[in-house]
Amino acid sequence: MDLEYVISIHESGHVLAAYLLGIPIQFVSLDSNPPQTRYAQDLCEICISKRLMVILGGWAATEVMGLNRELWCKQMEGHDRDLQQAGHMVKEKWGEHSLTPIICATKRALVCLFCDKTCALKTLSFYLRKCRILTCSQIEEILLLFNLEPFAES
Ligand SMILES: [Zn+2]
Repeated sequence: MDLEYVISIHESGHVLAAYLLGIPIQFVSLDSNPPQTRYAQDLCEICISKRLMVILGGWAATEVMGLNRELWCKQMEGHDRDLQQAGHMVKEKWGEHSLTPIICATKRALVCLFCDKTCALKTLSFYLRKCRILTCSQIEEILLLFNLEPFAES
């Protein structure tokens, strides 16, 4: 286990959440500082519930992979930054009292969404570490293997 593995799973989570929600991705890079997933659409144009899912997708990926208890995870600034960003968005939109319930509900929804997709997360993370950067078409090629259903809002 190493930090780069944890980071690659975290970024794969952002990629997978965006892919399932139909949000176009430009690329994901392990070598940029900090590592990042870049979207081809301004996330501000997307409804807040989907935006929260994409932002917390990194957290959810390491959660379903059983990594959130790892020391490496606790050292990751990306995790904290995402949680803070999500927290600010919720507070601004719905007020302080909504923070815990909405963040918890989003995390639960993501864990449900990802729990049978650990294979896709591992494969994305494998190629990301190998290639360092994955473009939109490479991501699509990889994820087509898994025949994933788009996320349907109930
Ligand atoms: Zn992140």
